[in-house]
Amino acid sequence: MSERLGTPERPLRVAIVGAGPAGFYAAEALLKQKELACRIDFINRLPTPYGLVREGVAPDHQSIKAVTRVYDKLAAGEQLRYFGNVCFGSDLLHEDLRRLYDAIIYAVGAQSDRRMGIPGEDLPGSLPATIFVGWYNGHPDYCDLSFDLAHERVLVVGNGNVAMDVTRILVTDPDELAKTDIADHALEALRASKVCEVVMLGRRGPAQVAFTTPELKEFGELAGVDVIVDPADVALDPTSEASLADDKTAARNVALLRAYAERAPTGAPRRIVMRFLVSPVEILEADGRIAAVRLERNVLAQGPDGGLRAQGTGAFEELTCGMLLRSVGYRGVSLPGVPFNTASGTIPNVAGRVTEHGSGETVLGEYVVGWAKRGPSGVIGTNKPDSVATVAALVADIAEGLLPGATGDGDVAALLRERGVDYVSYADWKILDAHEAAHGVAQGRPRVKETRVAAMMAIIHAGRGA
Ligand code: NAP
Repeated sequence: MSERLGTPERPLRVAIVGAGPAGFYAAEALLKQKELACRIDFINRLPTPYGLVREGVAPDHQSIKAVTRVYDKLAAGEQLRYFGNVCFGSDLLHEDLRRLYDAIIYAVGAQSDRRMGIPGEDLPGSLPATIFVGWYNGHPDYCDLSFDLAHERVLVVGNGNVAMDVTRILVTDPDELAKTDIADHALEALRASKVCEVVMLGRRGPAQVAFTTPELKEFGELAGVDVIVDPADVALDPTSEASLADDKTAARNVALLRAYAERAPTGAPRRIVMRFLVSPVEILEADGRIAAVRLERNVLAQGPDGGLRAQGTGAFEELTCGMLLRSVGYRGVSLPGVPFNTASGTIPNVAGRVTEHGSGETVLGEYVVGWAKRGPSGVIGTNKPDSVATVAALVADIAEGLLPGATGDGDVAALLRERGVDYVSYADWKILDAHEAAHGVAQGRPRVKETRVAAMMAIIHAGRGA
């Protein structure tokens, strides 16, 4: 009889693909299982860990990044190894992981963005907010992009927290951003920016926004920025007004928006204009790039699910702009060899157990956490109970003897070396981390980010030899 999985004689071998919050919380939940002996290997595409904590959280929200201390503590344990700079699907294939591990947990997040589906969406100057976020956060995939900030007005479509982040970064005094870990290339571009007005376009009303109150409050505290809200927009329809009684966040948001609507503009050098009940229906071109957006005014109508949805009125207007950032949600992308639901942009699953798309059959030994599991919603902490639930399913499957177990022997480190993959260990990451932090100290910043993989690897190589 084969040895039981998860015992000291035969520890459970788990691969976690993706070293963002959801992956780390899955590792934490596994390590908390007192009865379970396990070895966990992180496989991460970038050399750097932490996912959206490094590449997504806004640079002026440093305190949120303190969660990485918890991740560092986990990574310091002997049961956990980190293989950064390793791409699932090319450096390591699905079948490699099936051979080497008893369980695979996908924690890959949502690597792309949703589209608006309107004419002109791909014109130069019409871009997803997600890549702007990646650019100012120094994500290597986006560090060579350039954004044309030579125009006075930018439109931001959507009323979520990402829309709030990109709007705030566009109007914040660069001297303030210079105290953060914003990518140097972005700081330089923002210093030269001519943008003085950012118009946020919400398709529904102030009571239906997806952003949270602290972010809205921050708008009102930005130096040199007026926040403009039309009083007519905060006079709610009766259904929206009634909904405030049961929704504290919406009530707080509406109260704050009403306070902004009462403020007289001070003539500050930059403005945030918050518009509601408008949808872009077409992006208009001049000289081969975005020049304006055609907007349709909306009303709220009862949707099939009982909620209020935006409905076009047939009344249109045009608004000129130099850039448009659509911030209408992230979207997952498929991984080679792994089931994927193209409609939802997630890995199909039941309670975190991966299932075949279509048949719904469980793929034994494969699990999913975070945005890849439930879609791009919630804050960093939301991923903790989500990962705990998936790990509970994994542990139950071990008890039921449902895991097929690794089909082969061998170690991923040897396989990667054999394939010539220059993988990054956690100790390697700490070399880069220390380098970035040391540069930060010299400039009075939390860190100065390296944004190119080659530069990161050069620092790590030099540090290994030191
Ligand atoms: P989100 O919260 O889902 O917001 C998406 C917004 O886009 C909603 O206002 C939505 O309006 C709108 N939208 C969707 N399709 C649209 C369309 N076709 N036309 C116009 N508007 C459209 O997404 P997100 O802002 O990308 O954020 C993702 C998650 O990360 C959220 O859970 C967010 O809270 C979190 N996050 C948190 C922070 C923070 O804590 N500071 C920062 C960044 C992100 P409807 O409501 O009408 O659908």
